[in-house]
Amino acid sequence: MRAFYKLPRLYVTGEIVQGDDIVLPKDQGHFLSRVLRRTVGDQVRLFNGNDGEYLASITHISKRETVLSAGEQIRTLEPPPDIWLLFAPIKHKRNVFIVEKATELGAALIQPVITARTTSRINIDKMQAHVIEAAEQTERLDLPQIRDAQKLEHILAGWDKSRTLVFADEGGDAKPAATALAKIKAPAAILIGPEGGFTADERAMLRAKPYCVPISLGPRILRADTAAAATLALWQAVSGDW
Ligand code: SAM
Repeated sequence: MRAFYKLPRLYVTGEIVQGDDIVLPKDQGHFLSRVLRRTVGDQVRLFNGNDGEYLASITHISKRETVLSAGEQIRTLEPPPDIWLLFAPIKHKRNVFIVEKATELGAALIQPVITARTTSRINIDKMQAHVIEAAEQTERLDLPQIRDAQKLEHILAGWDKSRTLVFADEGGDAKPAATALAKIKAPAAILIGPEGGFTADERAMLRAKPYCVPISLGPRILRADTAAAATLALWQAVSGDW
């Protein structure tokens, strides 16, 4: 059982230095005192995405502010495997699911992609809040970077060819995922299409790229959110840190 596992985890911005005071933003202070019902003297765990995890004690709680005193470092940051998730935004609730699962499943970067059949937009600020919440819950010490939505063509135009792009191709003639993914080590990326799927032109464009590997996720057509979580999980199991 991990030590300190029962203590709440809070993401804070800025450096964490043992002995320093950290004043929490109002909403976080409220969450700690009102929702988690913690009080002065109680301990929490802090992480900022760069410096590992620290213990901290609550030294002051009031309506106006909550102050913590940073304690010892209890975990050092080991960066997760360099796996990215690119996905075409779908309905808001399902985008939240994709971003939350990508965070839990260790994605290092999340890139919304605009394809020909993408019909939804995505609110990056809202997604950032879900990333932080998922990282606190999943015991991550880093945060996945979440980028603004970009057109598929633009992303490919600037693609680093040393990063393999796994393309979930529902067209039906791609390699089975497990065999394909076992050979694809980090740095890698997974691309999931929109509800309407990729167009024939997009599939041809992707398949023409030397760094692109089409994979099949089996005989059934998965929802985009299911496909995103399933492919990330499979990659972590055969080539990642599971
Ligand atoms: N509208 C498409 C159709 O009916 O054929 C389905 C698109 S699916 C809802 C969304 C995305 O999930 C696809 O573009 C693909 O990236 C991925 N996906 C879903 N099922 C898949 C499968 N069996 N094999 C490979 N990729 C799949």
